[in-house]
Amino acid sequence: MLGHKDILKMGNPILRKIAQPFSEDEIKSNETKILVERMWKIMEEAGGIGLAAPQIAISKQLAVIRLDESSDRYPGIDSSPEYVMFNPKIQHLTEDTQGHWEGCLSIPGLRGYVERPNKISVDFTDQNLESKNLILDGFLATVFQHEIDHLKGKLYVDLISNKELLLYEEEFIKLNENK
Ligand code: ZN
Repeated sequence: MLGHKDILKMGNPILRKIAQPFSEDEIKSNETKILVERMWKIMEEAGGIGLAAPQIAISKQLAVIRLDESSDRYPGIDSSPEYVMFNPKIQHLTEDTQGHWEGCLSIPGLRGYVERPNKISVDFTDQNLESKNLILDGFLATVFQHEIDHLKGKLYVDLISNKELLLYEEEFIKLNENK
């Protein structure tokens, strides 16, 4: 059984591959239901708010997201519903950007300040094979972009040009305490 210790770390080539889409039959399969349950469990164990299948060595277009207001890793966020996304497509609805401190279970111990478009539209297929569209802004829009980037072989550190905005978590915590 996979656990949070099996989350791939930056440097593993699977994290840099373009993930393959799911077919309808694959989404409906029992195997996929088990995979989704496993992803929730691994994400929870690791204290994360999102997980993409490539992070557990499955190079397929699936990600789960659930923001939790009691998260230790992301204090001060609002809780969100649970999202299970297959084959997501993203559109930026504005060129305006917002910055948030991001972390990644595949890049343990670091935080980076990343600017991303602050309003997006996401189309995906859910677990019941329904097509969904979400219009998102704020931190949730950042989390969706971060997870969907995993399906394209991209990591948040790719988006940080100013390396002063990449910190160890200990320093990130100090920075927040001094605010
Ligand atoms: Zn990540």
